[in-house]
Amino acid sequence: RKTVWIGTNWKMNKGPSEALAAAEALKSYQPPESVKPFIIAPFTSLQVVAEKLKDSDVLVGAQNMHWEESGSWTGEISPGMIEECGADIVLIGHSERRQHFAETDWTVSRKMAAALRHGLKPLLCIGESLDEYDYGVTDETLARQLKIALHNVAVEDLPNILIAYEPVWAIGAGGRAADTDCVARVHTSLRQVLIEIAGVEIGGRVPLLYGGSVTQDNARSYVEQPNVDGVFVGRAGWNVPDFEKLIDRVI
Ligand code: 13P
Repeated sequence: RKTVWIGTNWKMNKGPSEALAAAEALKSYQPPESVKPFIIAPFTSLQVVAEKLKDSDVLVGAQNMHWEESGSWTGEISPGMIEECGADIVLIGHSERRQHFAETDWTVSRKMAAALRHGLKPLLCIGESLDEYDYGVTDETLARQLKIALHNVAVEDLPNILIAYEPVWAIGAGGRAADTDCVARVHTSLRQVLIEIAGVEIGGRVPLLYGGSVTQDNARSYVEQPNVDGVFVGRAGWNVPDFEKLIDRVI
């Protein structure tokens, strides 16, 4: 059976005490053998969560990162700081950062290289807006985002990255989940781009996750599609028992 990545992005939820309680609950969770669960915590909770989940089956990640090592960047967090907190993963280019905080393909590209230099596993998020979807330029948009993001990444580093396809129109309370057919088609097109960049051996194996209004009821239908190697969940994973139930219902 293929390895299935199932993660939840806590977004701007769970300060240190609430996050610690969630980590405590997740600590003894034993996922099905083929599943790699992960949680993406806010910065102020990262260290306590990473410490608590150190010897567990659940990987821990940060939600954003600057690309420089240090310096005059008020309000930013460096790769080394995230590494020191004990995180395994770092989210790069989430659409909420691109939309509301001026994240660009250029900064995403710098951040991808910086994460890999620090031994962090970047989870690259790409996705088209509703306008881009309506104009029929989904494939071009995603190929552009992907090629720029991977421009500074050596082919031999690609086995260490994760990619999530998260259509902007599918995310959050106002979103609607993408059809499984649409996701299967897009992931096949993304796979072709990856193979073009890195060849079949490496490009054929980079995990491609789907995210956007994933629920306990629809998660499995995505993972059943070819080229879908997992799901990246927001709301449906914020409550620990719900997250565990979602995982159990996928496998
Ligand atoms: P929702 O599952 O809440 O739509 O959020 C998905 C997401 O943005 C994961 O990063």
